[in-house]
Amino acid sequence: MDNKAKLRGLPRVDALGESLSHLWDKYGKDMVLSCVRECVDETRAALLSGGDADISPEAMADMVEKRLGEIYAPHLHTVVNATGVVLHTNLGRAVLCERAAMAAYHAARSYTNLEYDIEKGQRGSRYSHIEKLLCRVTGAESAMVVNNNAAAVMLVLSTMVKGREAIVSRGELVEIGGAFRVPEIMEQSGGILREVGTTNKTHAYDYINAINENTGVLLKVHTSNFKVTGFTEEVSLEEMVEIGHAHGVPVIYDLGSGLMCSLAEAGIFDEPMVKPAVRSGADVVSFSGDKLLGGPQAGIIVGKKEYIEKMKKNPLTRAFRVDKMTFAALEETLRCYLSEGGEMSVPAIGMIRRTVPELDKKAKELAGLLEEAPSLWCAVMREKSQVGGGSVPSEFIETRAVEVQAKDMSAALLEERLRREHSIICRIIKDKVVFDVRTLLEGDELKIAAALKEICGGK
Ligand SMILES: *Cc1c(COP(=O)(O)O)cnc(C)c1O
Repeated sequence: MDNKAKLRGLPRVDALGESLSHLWDKYGKDMVLSCVRECVDETRAALLSGGDADISPEAMADMVEKRLGEIYAPHLHTVVNATGVVLHTNLGRAVLCERAAMAAYHAARSYTNLEYDIEKGQRGSRYSHIEKLLCRVTGAESAMVVNNNAAAVMLVLSTMVKGREAIVSRGELVEIGGAFRVPEIMEQSGGILREVGTTNKTHAYDYINAINENTGVLLKVHTSNFKVTGFTEEVSLEEMVEIGHAHGVPVIYDLGSGLMCSLAEAGIFDEPMVKPAVRSGADVVSFSGDKLLGGPQAGIIVGKKEYIEKMKKNPLTRAFRVDKMTFAALEETLRCYLSEGGEMSVPAIGMIRRTVPELDKKAKELAGLLEEAPSLWCAVMREKSQVGGGSVPSEFIETRAVEVQAKDMSAALLEERLRREHSIICRIIKDKVVFDVRTLLEGDELKIAAALKEICGGK
């Protein structure tokens, strides 16, 4: 049949719609008919442009049913993270603790006192819920929350340096995750970037010499996602505070990750922590909610009351405002840090602190499950995990993984099928598919075993 004949033979919309009447209850007749129209139109367009198409009623009905399925299947859905990257930005960064997730759920399903003062019976502030708690866990005088740390930095600069200079070391003009670049954020916020020092070395006198009557702030940016080694020198936050305050200039610090507790036992020493940064006397410190803090996406700003009050009045605050679910989840995440050891219930922290014996046990359990599939070869291997989320770039933590090879199937194809058919995300190392157990959540081992059995054939 040539395309002309096929065009003439295309099923009619109403006839095809009638033949799918068994789907009307599930999706509604209008929805079914609208998909039928879409599929017929697309097929006609394909034939007109010289392409090929199967116009049999069965094939057309399949196309419509598949389309309907796609519309109703959640496009954003859960995946298994077997990469070992704890804060994988592409996979949604931090996994919330149960209490935080439940708090977000309850806030979502009900009215709340988000902007209502229950005591006074009048309008309240949406920041009141979190400010005291943030001050308690960080040691700061005042605090507020916006959408993410990029927004936080933007708000801080727009409030504190608009039309004036922000002095920044050339070694700290970072780009984080594509669109967040310090020079561009500065431009957007109306601040003037005053670069000092060089890529590898910046000295105290560089800041001192640059200070003038138009200086708005000294800005320090944590170089989260890269590390300069060799002949390097940077001015510590403490020294910057000393210099700034001696000249009457406030100091702001984009700390990045929001680490609240030590990760020394996991061998991570380089990541700055929130409390010491606040204690150093920095006027304003900002960080993300969903990196090492382990909470929902948010940008947290803590510091001196006079500056935070100004930020609350900045119109950008309204544009960057956070919703009730985020507040609810953030509150419960922060509460984990109130008691010693409580941080272990934050999944990101728990995963990073997983010990090698624990990981070894988990890997052996997974390998045990996989042995049931006869066409698979698998073994426990030593590997390194990355923290991710643009933090701790140079440190890898020892982990255990299970490497898998399927008979008659390349690692690339196996990886693709795991990803596309089962939403299991893993790595390929030396032609083997590798599952790092550090980032597996409860039940993930069973999902991996079932998927491999389905793909490779079990007993
Ligand atoms: C990650 C990061 C940001 C951006 O934070 P988001 O919460 O992703 O918007 C800004 N500055 C630094 C230093 C960072 O590490």
